[in-house]
Amino acid sequence: MKITIAIDGYSSCGKSTLAKTLASRLGYAYVDSGAMYRAVTLYCMRNGLIKNGKFDTAKVIAVLDDIHLTFVYNPATKASDTYLNGENVEKPIRQMDVSEQVSKIAVVKEVRDKMFRIQRKLGKDKGVVMDGRDIGTHIFPHAELKIFMTADTNVRTQRRLDELSAKGYTVSFDEVKKNLEERDYEDSHRKESPLRKADDAVVLDNTELDKEEQLEFVLRLAKQLSA
Ligand code: C5P
Repeated sequence: MKITIAIDGYSSCGKSTLAKTLASRLGYAYVDSGAMYRAVTLYCMRNGLIKNGKFDTAKVIAVLDDIHLTFVYNPATKASDTYLNGENVEKPIRQMDVSEQVSKIAVVKEVRDKMFRIQRKLGKDKGVVMDGRDIGTHIFPHAELKIFMTADTNVRTQRRLDELSAKGYTVSFDEVKKNLEERDYEDSHRKESPLRKADDAVVLDNTELDKEEQLEFVLRLAKQLSA
């Protein structure tokens, strides 16, 4: 039996890495919900709607119908790339400038409602691993398996820094740490579907776990639940 797996948690806990490998091991689809918020933010930035975290909510709401998100499987990464109005935006949406603004755009109820509809549709047939902040609490409150990921902030910062450096971006440890802390605060304190552990979620603190250990832990749970 195919199940729905929701993986939520703080920024840069390794949610995507775990979700992606888990999906591929189970033959499930992987959906990166954060990429969608990032793509909407990128659209707003490119169209001069948000500057230094400041924006006019009504103007953002007014352009939502002009934002078309699609997902195309990329065999090289074994995951789907996010397309914004037909353009593959996987690279630009991961840059620091987008990371710095995304949590501000993510508080807008109408933005969240649009993402809700897309995400619900993508997961309607089960057999999906979706990661984000509100997947187990809001998008799929009946998901059979919910994981809530967390890790020490310095460890998370170093992991994110390594990831950005590997992609050729030069940023400092403090800059990355500040961004993670700010996003965690904003994501946990917003009014609309804030980041919080669902009552029935299993906590996975991966401060001292390697990727293989995390995968084994979640695979075991997924196999029990889908048996
Ligand atoms: O997962 P990622 O770090 O790429 O997400 C970027 C941002 O998008 C988060 O910091 C959060 O503000 C927002 N987000 C959200 N709800 C989700 C996924 C992401 O609000 N389900």
